[in-house]
Amino acid sequence: MTANPNGCRWCGIDERGHAQQYKPPVGWHKWEQPTQAQLKERMRARRKARQP
Ligand SMILES: [Zn+2]
Repeated sequence: MTANPNGCRWCGIDERGHAQQYKPPVGWHKWEQPTQAQLKERMRARRKARQP
């Protein structure tokens, strides 16, 4: 499964439907914008996954 590029920086869940999530090491958190590096890496992974 490939994460939504704009998913939470901690768990990758979409902002819609995130609410509070528990994920070590950050613990309980609200949706947070992914870093530029994460965005780039996720876009790259998604492009790669789409290739045959
Ligand atoms: Zn999260």
